[in-house]
Amino acid sequence: MLMSNILFVVAGLLLGVAFQGGMFFFLIPVAGVAVALGYMNLPRIPGGKTSAIPVVTRAMRATGLAPAVTPDLRNSVKDDSTEYNEPNSTLKVNQVWARANADVNKAMTDLLQGLKRVIPNANSLLIFSNLGSFKEWGIRVYSAESSSQIATDVKITETSGLLGQLFNMDVERLLEGDLSGGKALLYYIDNPSIKSLVAVPILDQNKNRMGALVVDSLYPNAFSQSTAQAMTNIASTLYVLYYKSFVSAKNYIGQHQFSILYSYQHKFFQTMSVKDIYRQIFDYVKQNIPFDRMMLLALDRAEDDPHKEREGRVVCCDGIDSEQFANKKFSLSDKGLAVLALFQNRPVERFFSSSSSQYVPRIDNHETRNMDFRQLFVMPVATDNNAGQAELAICLESRTSGRYTEHEMQLLKAFAGVAGFAYARASQYETKKDQATRDGMTGLLNKRSMPEALRTEKIRADRRKYNIGVLMMDIDHFKSVNDTYGHEVGDIVIIEIAKTLLREVRKDIDIVARYGGEEMVVGLVDTTPEGMIETAERIRKAVLQLEFDVHKPDPLRVSISIGAFLVTPDYKDNMMKAVSLADQALYKAKEGGRNQVIQYTESV
Ligand code: GH3
Ligand code: MG
Ligand code: MG
Repeated sequence: MLMSNILFVVAGLLLGVAFQGGMFFFLIPVAGVAVALGYMNLPRIPGGKTSAIPVVTRAMRATGLAPAVTPDLRNSVKDDSTEYNEPNSTLKVNQVWARANADVNKAMTDLLQGLKRVIPNANSLLIFSNLGSFKEWGIRVYSAESSSQIATDVKITETSGLLGQLFNMDVERLLEGDLSGGKALLYYIDNPSIKSLVAVPILDQNKNRMGALVVDSLYPNAFSQSTAQAMTNIASTLYVLYYKSFVSAKNYIGQHQFSILYSYQHKFFQTMSVKDIYRQIFDYVKQNIPFDRMMLLALDRAEDDPHKEREGRVVCCDGIDSEQFANKKFSLSDKGLAVLALFQNRPVERFFSSSSSQYVPRIDNHETRNMDFRQLFVMPVATDNNAGQAELAICLESRTSGRYTEHEMQLLKAFAGVAGFAYARASQYETKKDQATRDGMTGLLNKRSMPEALRTEKIRADRRKYNIGVLMMDIDHFKSVNDTYGHEVGDIVIIEIAKTLLREVRKDIDIVARYGGEEMVVGLVDTTPEGMIETAERIRKAVLQLEFDVHKPDPLRVSISIGAFLVTPDYKDNMMKAVSLADQALYKAKEGGRNQVIQYTESV
């Protein structure tokens, strides 16, 4: 009786100290943080020993909400060298878990040392805890007479002799007073003659057996029923210790993840460029979510015609077999799952077994199938949840099923919300900017923005010492096209010629502008005198190839005349002067019979 009273008092005191000292300094700053965000765990817990803990070398990502689980449960033999993307931020999460583990171990070690002093005949005291499954326990901490005798890497299972009995739900405690029968205790390397033992299970709130608290002695009948009862009580308090530490670590991680989200919100609103937003989304995913393949799908800008089916393309892609998806185009008629998630604005999650009949295309039926993938998760990025379709979608794939947890999906959803808003803002801005600088009919730069584009290019050309070829072109006898076939046909001719120009020059490098009604200017960046004429001839011939169906036996064909002027680095005049010199050459081309290229010379 006296013994158990002392035990109760000591246990209470030690736990109190452990909680207030070791544990709660760590817990207090994180205790108030909103729950939710925290279930990600890490591939690795940094190695190294804390007190007498077996070294934890690997941890697996948590796969569910189970606060009964200790961080150790995340240990696994998974070979993470096969992972494509394990985000950097997991390093920080690792540290949090390692710290939580260390805190728990410190408290437990202190507790065991205290217990040892008040149990006069105790030889060693140990705490076992589960190793990734409820069916296997390993030594977590111990306090022994001679620590070198304890085999810290031992694993106890149902079949492990005496202690294995604790896996049996019917066994509430083991109290042995005479072990002379030679029941070996697995945890001793050099088994001393242990005579007595008390072992009690550590239960979680669902009565699952998570481990055991064990004390042994070299004396027979060293322990009484009340010692066993005291141990049972301490075991239940141990569980609380585990639990609190685990929850606080999760909360801390949640807070960390929240602050990352917040920092991205900041980044998003510092840019007006759609491309920047793609990159930021990619960065976030890369740094925070594991994947074996990741794609970002974007719808192209809406056309004026609402009946036209919207199309999109893969704007960003990383991971296994990603090359085949880079820049891939798609439309609603492609029945890939990622495409559907985008067009229907709803998250999609799928698990696959290894059977190929289960394969679901991500974009369309032409993609190369990879049967290794076990989980697909697509998160649409929209301005609001009720939007009919999203503008973007983040598509994640993993070779491990269950890799994306409910929590992770929520996290990505929160991120997508922020991203969707920023994306809408940037894309509106870019649309407006385009409307101001581009010609609505052809999409070419308009007359207003062309001088600026040429000037900017000239500054660069002077610095890097290259030429700019200026071409001024005009459709031949265009009035008669209008007069004969009507203005609408005329418009189509202008649009087709604009497309031809864009095809014949370098996209995003050369400058193409609609200068007047049926006059267009091209700025060929970094060209030679021969190159300029070659390109002009190529354009002229390409236009000749165009055929317009005008409901007559023969299609309509048109020609253009082109004037060219080469702006060299030593040309110091205004770029609009250069355009007018090209225009003078164009005049000569018209005079000379049309459908030809004339280069400006002094004598022109
Ligand atoms: P030339 O070979 O000398 O260039 O003869 P041309 O008939 O083409 O003469 P010019 O270049 O002066 O003709 C310009 C005509 O282009 C006048 C105008 O009706 C027509 N035009 C200008 N803008 C548009 C447009 O946006 N749509 C259509 N359909 N016609 C246009
Ligand atoms: Mg004209
Ligand atoms: Mg003309």
